[in-house]
Order: sequence, then C-alpha cells, then structure tokens
Amino acid sequence: MAEATSIVKGVETPLRYLKGVGPQRSNLLSRLGLETVADALLFAPRRYEDRRHLTSFRDLRVGDLQATTGTVAGISPPPPRSGRLPFQVLLRDETGGFLNAVFFNQPYLVSTFKRGQQVVLYGKVARFRRGPLQMVHPEFELVEEDEEERLHTGRLVPIYPLTEGLGQRRLRSLMHQVVDEFADAAPDPLPLALRERLGLRPLVEALRAIHFPEDLPHAETARHRLAFDDFFIFQLGLALRRRREAGAAGTPMGPPGPLVTRLRELLPYRLTRAQERVWAEIQEDLASGRPMNRLLQGDVGSGKTVVALLTVLTAVEAGFQAALMAPTEILAEQHSLTLGPLLAQLGVPLGLLTAGLKPSEREALHAQIGTGEIRVVVGTHALIQEGVEFSRLGLAVVDEQHRFGVLQRATLRGKGTNPHVLVMTATPIPRTLALTAYGDLDLSVIDEMPPGRKPIVTAWRAESKRPQIYDFLRKELDAGRQAYVVCPLVEESEATDLRAATELAERLRQEVFSEAGIGLLHGRLRFDEKESVMRAFKAGEIQILVSTTVIEVGIDVPNASVMLVEHAERFGLAQLHQLRGRVGRGPWKSYCILMAGGGLTADAKRRLEAICESQDGFHIADVDLSLRGPGEFFGTRQSGLPEFKIGDLLRDGPLLEEARREAMTLMTADPGLAEPEHRLLREALVARWKGRLDLASIG
Ligand code: ADP
Ligand code: MG
Repeated sequence: MAEATSIVKGVETPLRYLKGVGPQRSNLLSRLGLETVADALLFAPRRYEDRRHLTSFRDLRVGDLQATTGTVAGISPPPPRSGRLPFQVLLRDETGGFLNAVFFNQPYLVSTFKRGQQVVLYGKVARFRRGPLQMVHPEFELVEEDEEERLHTGRLVPIYPLTEGLGQRRLRSLMHQVVDEFADAAPDPLPLALRERLGLRPLVEALRAIHFPEDLPHAETARHRLAFDDFFIFQLGLALRRRREAGAAGTPMGPPGPLVTRLRELLPYRLTRAQERVWAEIQEDLASGRPMNRLLQGDVGSGKTVVALLTVLTAVEAGFQAALMAPTEILAEQHSLTLGPLLAQLGVPLGLLTAGLKPSEREALHAQIGTGEIRVVVGTHALIQEGVEFSRLGLAVVDEQHRFGVLQRATLRGKGTNPHVLVMTATPIPRTLALTAYGDLDLSVIDEMPPGRKPIVTAWRAESKRPQIYDFLRKELDAGRQAYVVCPLVEESEATDLRAATELAERLRQEVFSEAGIGLLHGRLRFDEKESVMRAFKAGEIQILVSTTVIEVGIDVPNASVMLVEHAERFGLAQLHQLRGRVGRGPWKSYCILMAGGGLTADAKRRLEAICESQDGFHIADVDLSLRGPGEFFGTRQSGLPEFKIGDLLRDGPLLEEARREAMTLMTADPGLAEPEHRLLREALVARWKGRLDLASIG
C-alpha cells in the first residue's frame, strides 16, 4: 500500500502538532480547554448562524437578533481617545438600505475595516431617534475573497466560544481542519446494536454534523448523540461503582419486629403514603444482604425523621448499633430531644455525642458506645472523630447530608463493617442533578406532606413597611404564637454577623416586645448556651428568636408562626425555602415575611418571586437550577458534580435517564465489559474516569 509508511493519526494528537498551530496559538487553545484533537472534536459551537439566508437590511426588525451582510460604504474618523464618541462603520447592501455598526472604546477597529469590504454581522438591531438602523457592538466577520470562503458564508456557520486573541474565523478554520482530518479516526465506543436501538447517529457523522451541520435538525441529532455518550459513559462508571459496593456482603436485617410495631403504635399520626413507600424501599434494602446505600429526599417537614427512626429500630432489633449524624449541634440536640423520649418508652438507650461535652462526659459516652451498652447515638461531627469506637455499628444515618462531604460520610461508614447507610436531605435536588451528583446512591423521595399542612403565607415587603410588620408581629405574639427573625447574611466574618444580630435583637426589644421575650442565637455561643436558648424557645419562654442562619436546618417548634427574614435578597432560594420551613408546623396559620430593599438584581427579584409563588421545594429547586446553572447549584460545599462536555443537565434530563437505564442494563449483561463489542466502551470509560475507578474491578 502506498500509505504504508504514514502513521495512523489518532484523536490523542496534541493540537500543537497540527499544521498552522504554533506555540502561541496552542496556548490560546489551551485557554479554551483544548489540548488534543479529541478535545477539539468535542468542542461544540455555542450556536449556529444561518448564513444561507442573511436578512437584507430592508427586512431587519428592530429589537431582534439577526444576521446580515453588507459592504462598507463609509467609516467615521477615529474618535478622540478621551471622548465618548463611538467608532462607526456605515454599511450598504444590495437592497440599497443602510446599517450603521457602532463600536465604543475599540480604537483598534479603525484599521480593521476598508471601504468596499464585505462584512457579515450578527447583533441586535436598533434605531436611534430618526437615524439609520444600527447594531451596537455586533459580532462581525470580514468576508475574504478566497477559496476557503465557503466555510464562513453561504451555509449554517458554527459560532464557537472564543478567547481573546483568537478570532472566530481562525478557530472555525482550525475546527474544519480537525474535523476533516480526524473525525474518521474517532473510534465509536457505542455497540452497534445499542446505537441502532436508540436511533443514535454514528459517532463520525455526529462529530462532523455538530461542527458543520447541513441544517439545525442535523446539528441537534448530532448533539443528542454526543450528549448521550457523555451521560452514558459517566453513568456506566457509576453503575460499576455501585456494582462493586453491592458485591460487598451486608448484614441482612428485618423483618421489623415488636419495637417497630410499638413505635408505630406510639406515634400520634399515621404515616403518609409516601412515607410508607420509602419505608418499604428501605426494608427491602435492609433485608437484601447487601449494604444499603440510599438517599432519602423529602421537602422540609415531609417527615423524614420518623422514617429514619423506623430504620434505626430495625437495626437495633437485629442486634446492632445505629448512629445518626447531624450537621449542627442544635439539630443533633433536637433529634435527641424528639427521639430520646420515644426510644426511652421502648427501652432503648440513646446517647448524644457533640463537641460540647465535658471531657469526662465524653469519655463515659465513648466507653458506653464501645461496649454497645448505648444502642443509638445521635451526634455531630464528633461522631466521626478518632476515639469513637462502636461495638457493632450496623446503620449510619446522615441527616441534611448536603452539609457533609463525601469523606465525612465515608468516615462514618468506616466505623462499622459495611453498615447500611441512609443519607437524608431536605434540600430538594432536581432529579437530573441527584442522578449525577449522587448517582451511586439509590434514590427515595417523600413527595407528599403530612395531612393538614396549611400553605405558609409568603410575602415580600420593602423596608418602608417595617412598622406595619412589627405591628403584625405583635399581634401574633399576643395571640400566643412565636416568631423567628433571621438576620441578614454578612459574609465577611462571624463578628459582623454577631453585631448585626445583637443590634437587631436590641431594636426588637425597643420596638416590639418587652425584654424577657427575646432570645439571641448565633454561631459564637457555646453549645450549652445554644441549648438553653433553644430549650427556652421550645418551652415558650422566649417569644422571638433572633438568629443568624444557624437555625437554617431542621429546627422544629410548632408554635412558631412567623418567619421574618431580613435582607432576604442576600439568601439563596434553597436557604429561603429552608427558613420558611421552620414555620407552619403547628395547626396555626403561618407567615413568612421577606424584607428586601430596593436596587435588587434581576436574579434576586426572580428568587423572591419564586419563593412567594410556590411552596413546592422541588419546583423551587428547578427554578434555582435554571437561575444558577448546574455548576453553581450546590454552591462550594458540593464538589461531586462532574462536568459534561456536550450534555446539558438543564435540557437533557430525559436523555440522562435513558443513559442511566442503558448503563445499568449493560452492566448487568456484561459486568466486566469483557465482550469484544464493549472493548472501545471500556477504553472510553477508563479515559473518562481516569483514576477515580478501581479498574481492577473491570479487569
Ligand atoms: P423533615 O422531613 O423536615 O425532617 P420532620 O421529620 O422533622 O421533617 O417532620 C416534621 C413534622 O411532621 C414533625 O413534627 C413530625 O412529628 C411530623 N410528622 C411526620 N410524619 C407525619 C405524619 N405522617 N403525619 C403527621 N405529622 C407527621
Ligand atoms: Mg429533618
């Protein structure tokens, strides 16, 4: 063969080896995350511009984003450096119309345009007073009269994300070169049968079409195929991990015995259908002989605690210890206050382990945990410290798990031998994100509230309404209710937070209520101080609890009917929803008042609107996701969310589900990916997951 000496060109080729890409340009490409040919092939355009039919000037509509073309008919003199005058380029097109391209502060453009030069523009069409149509800061490309021009005009043209110093035309030409030379060499990891069954396009075709599509549907089917790969290979890795964990021997527990039965008799209510359903799912896990690894999602107040308690008792009945870890001391304390008496009636001793214990108390408790005398331990991070040795830990429950990292969960799990793990969250997570960030957990959702909950009247009020709000507060207190007042979030330091909270409490004392009725809760208090404030609030000795955001999670005081949030615009949607969830826990009508000043950003307004409109945590989470995007959704605490090159968690939910189903099916059929038709898939999996998979398990 004539080609015998040529090397096979692989997609792993670094871009800097490509013709026309020197060190300088390859640096620019790195800034876009493009190192190899494979990176470039999967670098999707952010949109396409239809340059088959550019709109003529005559047909441009003011206010629309449009693409058009014309030739340069006049150029304004370079504007003086200091002035505010723009640089303008007057264009004329075949219809005889005019369009002004207007640029501010871009003096270098003066040498870019020449009379008679043809230009393609894309931008928002405007008209200033009676002047000609104009586009301010349009995207533009000069049309060259060369051979290659067909790439840039007369077709659907890809528009890529850029970086300074790398122009659209340059990048497009490079992408064309890459697709032309390398797309054919990209191995298609999907087994043919799978691809055909799902109606996905071949990889080579999809790679070509996502960059240089014939039409928009063509581009979309290409994107669909590549997004599937993204999700599928990710879910395959998760399925592999789950399989490995499922392979470990767990302790079969159940069926529930007399303790569980007696607890159910003691409860003053019946479980909701949703609680029964998730409880059944959990029982199945416990009985399976494999360690449970389940995420229990349920909106604030949906009743997760009792489900956890049933699980705890099942472990106790099987002869094991159970640990319940909460993110704050207050929450741990509260769990022990609500669970303790119930467990006491059942004759099951409970221990509360927090950082606030005196050394002697801690030692005594450690000892009781070590001997197994204490069967149920509730605690904070103190649970996972060294020195805490369980005698037989069979179940680890993590409450409000989004407050913990993956490592902390793993440490708690490590206190037992393959214990069952139940993690709970009251921060509703859109399903697509849950399947991604927690994809290696099984998912249970309590999607129903206990009966009789009344909607919480939620209102957004300006600062000027403060007197009326205080009047209202006073009325509620006179009627015997209690209120939370949450201080503005001050990021800089705990000290500033504290000052703000203290001032607010003082003001309330003067303007609303007598001295005795106001309590202050903040992060600087010692544990026993917090505890006594919480107890006093629960007991009704304190009527208004002024607090920094430490009360955010889990507090349960049914008599509280008002939640007043200061500077609500500084809070995230999930936080506001959590805060609101503190009220409406008793039989009384409850209120959430959001104080927010003027000058709000558009996002802040949408957050406040969303929280006023809806009480459904899952709906609110979806809005939050659309406002912040998947990357920001979890904030900085959560690093578990992977990045997808093409797949978009906002748009591609159903595709993600499909990819997940297919990944599980495939893993069941060929757990080691050992079949020849799965070889490429296996390679793709290794490349995607790098060090994060125990590859021995697919070896
Ligand atoms: P969360 O899911 O936010 O942790 P909790 O477990 O604290 O919610 O429950 C909130 C309140 O609802 C508690 O006071 C609890 O006693 C009550 N509750 C739980 N389940 C039911 C039910 N099925 N019917 C009535 N009240 C319930
Ligand atoms: Mg809870």
